Amino acid sequence: MYAFSYFRPASIDEAVAFLKDHEGAKPLSGGMTLVPTLKQRLAAPSHLVDLTWIPEMKGITVDGDILRIGAATPHAVVASSETVAQTIPALSRLAGLIADPQVRNRGTIGGSVANNDPAADYPASALGLDATVVTSERRIPADDFFVGMFETALRETELVTAIEFKRPDAAAYLKYAHAASGYAVAGVFVARFGGAVRVAVTGAGSSVFRWTEAEEALARSFGIESLRDVPLDDSMLLDDIHAPAPYRANLVKVHARRAVAELTNGG
Ligand SMILES: Cc1cc2nc3c(=O)[nH]c(=O)nc-3n(C[C@H](O)[C@H](O)[C@H](O)COP(=O)(O)OP(=O)(O)OC[C@H]3O[C@@H](n4cnc5c(N)ncnc54)[C@H](O)[C@@H]3O)c2cc1C
Repeated sequence: MYAFSYFRPASIDEAVAFLKDHEGAKPLSGGMTLVPTLKQRLAAPSHLVDLTWIPEMKGITVDGDILRIGAATPHAVVASSETVAQTIPALSRLAGLIADPQVRNRGTIGGSVANNDPAADYPASALGLDATVVTSERRIPADDFFVGMFETALRETELVTAIEFKRPDAAAYLKYAHAASGYAVAGVFVARFGGAVRVAVTGAGSSVFRWTEAEEALARSFGIESLRDVPLDDSMLLDDIHAPAPYRANLVKVHARRAVAELTNGG
C-alpha cells in the first residue's frame, strides 16, 4: 500500500470542496473494494475522504412512493430495516444476499452503485425499480447512470449522496451467486408498476442492463409462459473463467422465470 492521508469531512459540501482542492484525493465509503485495490498498489490516492461519518449521507426514509437510502448506509442496515422490508421487500432480500456478514457490515449502497461492478446486486435493483441516483450535483435516472463496466455517469468530484427507489406493485430478485464471493454470476430483478414491467440483469453482461424483450413480453401477459421464446443475445454477455456466455444466458432465463413465478405465486 502506498502512503496516503485520511480526511473525515462533516458534510457533503466539505467532502466535495476537499476533493476539488486535492486532485489526487478519492472518496472512501465502506472500503470493501477500494482498500483491497490500495493493498495491491493498483491505486495511489493522495488522500482518502471518508464519507461514512457524514450524517446527511445516512438513513432510510419513505416519502409517498419513494424509498430514499443514504449513500453511506451499509448493506446490513438495509437488509435489517423494517422500513425497507415494508416498502420494497425484494430490496431487503437483495441486500441480505450480498457477500457475507463482514462485507455487509462495511460495504455501502453508495459505494456499490458508484463502483458499478458488473456482478454487483444493487445496480439491478436501481435499474429494475427505475431509481434516481442523487448526487452532490444533480439527480440522475438509473437508466442513464450505469454506463459500462465499472463506469458510471459520475463526474470527477461528484458524489453519490442517496438512491431513491420507486415503490413497485411487486418485485422479486433472484441470483445465481458465485460460491466464494456471493457476487452474481447472473441476477435478475423483476418489478411491476401498473401494466409496465422492468427486468434488470446483473452479473451476465459488462454492466447491468434491462432485458427489454422480456419486459415487453411480460407487459403483454405476466406469467412464465410469456418468457418461453424471448430471445437473449448471448454475444453481448460475459464469457470468462466463472461461466461461458451461453451458460450465463441460460441462468438469466431461469432466474427471470423463477422471479416471475415468485410474483405470480404470491412470493
Ligand atoms: C469478498 C467480497 C464479496 C462481495 N460480494 C458482493 C456481492 O455478493 N454482491 C455485491 O453487490 N457486492 C459484493 N461485494 C461488494 C461490496 O458489497 C461493496 O458494495 C463494494 O465493495 C463497494 O462498496 P463500498 O462501500 O465498500 O465502497 P468503497 O470500496 O469504499 O468504494 C468503491 C469505489 O466507489 C467510490 N465511491 C464510494 N462511495 C462513493 C460515493 N458515495 N460517491 C462517489 N464515489 C464513491 C470509491 O472512491 C471507490 O472508487 C463484495 C465485496 C467483497 C470484498
